[in-house]
Amino acid sequence: MLPPLPTRILLGPGPSAVHPRVLRALATPLVGHLDPAFLELMEETKRLLRATFRTTNALTLPISATGSAGMEACLVNLLEPGDTAIIGVNGVFGTRMVDIVERCGATAVKLEAPWGHVIEPDAVAQALRAAPDARLVAVVHAETSTGAWQPLEAIGRLVRERGALFVVDAVTSLGGCPLQVDDWLIDACYSGTQKCLSCPPGLAPLTFGARAVDALHRRRSRVQSWYLDLTMIEKYWGDERVYHHTAPISMNYALLEALRLVDEEGLEARWARHERHHRALKAGLAAMGLELASQEGHQLWTLNAVRIPDGVDDAAVRAALLREFDLEIGGGLGPMKGRVWRIGLMGESSTEANVLLVLSALERVLPRCGYPTRPGTGVEAAARALAASPARG
Ligand SMILES: *Cc1c(COP(=O)(O)O)cnc(C)c1O
Repeated sequence: MLPPLPTRILLGPGPSAVHPRVLRALATPLVGHLDPAFLELMEETKRLLRATFRTTNALTLPISATGSAGMEACLVNLLEPGDTAIIGVNGVFGTRMVDIVERCGATAVKLEAPWGHVIEPDAVAQALRAAPDARLVAVVHAETSTGAWQPLEAIGRLVRERGALFVVDAVTSLGGCPLQVDDWLIDACYSGTQKCLSCPPGLAPLTFGARAVDALHRRRSRVQSWYLDLTMIEKYWGDERVYHHTAPISMNYALLEALRLVDEEGLEARWARHERHHRALKAGLAAMGLELASQEGHQLWTLNAVRIPDGVDDAAVRAALLREFDLEIGGGLGPMKGRVWRIGLMGESSTEANVLLVLSALERVLPRCGYPTRPGTGVEAAARALAASPARG
């Protein structure tokens, strides 16, 4: 028996709340990973993943590990020793990509922007001119460490013109804010189950377009990672059904159920829900004098990085929210440690009730932690914003 665990309201940078149907799916009796019933389930998973990524890519599947393995799978399969990769670095996850690129024996050209800002297309164009033989350009769509929302379309066109591959981290955007893999000329894209798909951490949806698959098949060297080698994994998820590693059966049940929930809600309605709740939260925070740390006009709907007012004890506030309200929000990472709170409104966690709860909890806790605010201020403003934009459907 597990020790008793608290029931938390998960409004951090992940994991997000998991729907009871997904929890029940996890408890479904196992079948074998080559059972005809499981093979059928894999087909439905691929179909729903394609719909969620907005792609027709044949090579679309969940990697058996968390979001970081999706990142690693894209990079180890597309890069060979001696290659050059241009990486957008404006937060923790761009920095992580650089680390992986270097471990591949490739050279990372860092395209830096201040944390909280986005990578400008002009900077990408310039980097591509300076490194014309770059194999790929990679950026983070939704920088969970800063709350910045990276526009992709212009960069996708530039990268395609130059003949490089466009790789996108969609870990905190897939299922939460608009993402169009095919229309935006994205060649390889990965995500994670624990953010806007509202499934426990454990799988990393990934999709490779024809140009990426072509690069994979033309490699001169073997993929550096045995476990993440897509030339083998594609044979299990494709028609050949060749054993590579045992698929995590229960996690795949959970992902399929989570994808069905996305499908039932409708992708666009789901995006609209995330937008609505982000706007209400932002209005409530603003009324309390709290502002977002990410660049205006590029603020994520799924993750809100809130600037911590001067003199307020970051850890004390988060501890009080957890202790008194069972409410988890995230602290800052790297240079943003102690400077921002990260409030995630992802998947099942993105609800009207949670927006009002986190604001009222902050209204109660902040005055004790050195930031006077009149109770009701944030909740009132958020409630007005919600009333002004009724939920769809
Ligand atoms: C969470 C996250 C990851 C890593 O996912 P894990 O599930 O923690 O391995 C990668 N990129 C971004 C943008 C993320 O938010």
